Amino acid sequence: MVTAITRVFEEIGFLETMEREGFSHKYGASWHPTASHAALHVKFAGFPQPGINQDYTYHVDRSRFDLLLLKHAEKLGSCVCQGVCVKKVLFDAGHAVGVRVNIAGQSVDIPARIVVDASGRQALLGQQLRLRRTDPDFNQFSVHAWFENVDRGGRPDDIHIHFLPVKRGWVWQIPITDTVTSMGVVAEREVFRAGKGDYEVWFHELSRSAPDIALAMRDAKRVNDFKVEADYSYQMDSFMGDGWLLVGDAARFVDPIISSGVSVAMHSAKFASEQIASALAADDVSCSALAHYETRLKNATAIWHEFIRLYYKLLLMFTVFIAREEYRLQVLQLLQGDIYDREEVPVLQAMREFIDNVENTESHLLRPYFDGDLILDEDAPAPQELL
Ligand SMILES: Cc1cc2nc3c(=O)[nH]c(=O)nc-3n(C[C@H](O)[C@H](O)[C@H](O)COP(=O)(O)OP(=O)(O)OC[C@H]3O[C@@H](n4cnc5c(N)ncnc54)[C@H](O)[C@@H]3O)c2cc1C
Repeated sequence: MVTAITRVFEEIGFLETMEREGFSHKYGASWHPTASHAALHVKFAGFPQPGINQDYTYHVDRSRFDLLLLKHAEKLGSCVCQGVCVKKVLFDAGHAVGVRVNIAGQSVDIPARIVVDASGRQALLGQQLRLRRTDPDFNQFSVHAWFENVDRGGRPDDIHIHFLPVKRGWVWQIPITDTVTSMGVVAEREVFRAGKGDYEVWFHELSRSAPDIALAMRDAKRVNDFKVEADYSYQMDSFMGDGWLLVGDAARFVDPIISSGVSVAMHSAKFASEQIASALAADDVSCSALAHYETRLKNATAIWHEFIRLYYKLLLMFTVFIAREEYRLQVLQLLQGDIYDREEVPVLQAMREFIDNVENTESHLLRPYFDGDLILDEDAPAPQELL
């Protein structure tokens, strides 16, 4: 998770549960280059966020976390129906008026004033209304599983990102419990296609292709099945309409390299609930009454998307912007998931100009560092030294 999520936990009274349940604390992040034993670390304590009184966030086992959150919603008064599959959203004259569900083999129509689609990447309503647009910038492929005996090195509480010597390739290393570590290999889909087509072989080959990750995995033992995810970045054309809203992945999903998907899902749910409360108070649940929600979420996810796009372009070079005093705070805020209600984020423009300058200058010393295909050489000077 990213630290921005703490504000939502606090607001809904869920922070206590997170502490009580003993989820691993996440104090920072470490990035590892492709061709040398080295790492760059960031500690969240170094850049406190307003309204957040702890210098860590959490690593979670999603099934346990999701169940606790569901129970919390129930405790606060939601009526929760599990094992019920929504088949379609019902419309009357273009206005959402309820859902058709399958309960114990029976098809039942349930009326509703407002329908919120939180169906994740199944994107029920987005599919039904044909709103889904594949992201032109990312076509990623991922294989992941849980392992025991991963050597977590000197910073066992961090998320570790290991860059790989293939296009947009990286590995996440996330401690789930004291002994279990989630490991996931991500790369452009074309990298997978160029391999032998076997995702298990692909996982093992790539997770041996950078020195720090090879070391971390040398005695690792897999403890659950591999999972495969593909084509996972997209956006819906609209995030709301007459009587309906989309939250979380049902609205937009961007590559997970910043670990902010759950935070975006929870923030969008918070914004949607605020919008719904004022729409119901005004007795107007039309598209125009809900429009502010879309603007708010689209602005935030546009910042998120652009940061990730530039981050992939820069790879370890993005740390240059952490080193610079004038940008440090802005980059760290983005890494912590602070993307909401922001007027502008000047560091994104600075990153774009930096990239343009390097790409358009044939003899620029930093050119070899660019593009997802490139290997950061062991003997090459550190990017900061070249500035
Ligand atoms: C490879 C990968 C790695 C990721 N890593 C991270 C990470 O490190 N950190 C992070 O924050 N995020 C990460 N994410 C993103 C994160 O998983 C999502 O952004 C987040 O789960 C979105 O939450 P959600 O509630 O919108 O959807 P989901 O968590 O997918 O929940 C959707 C729910 O809707 C239910 N549902 C679907 N269709 C129906 C239906 N028709 N009827 C009834 N119920 C239905 C599903 O069963 C599910 O329970 C990662 C994603 C991927 C693909």
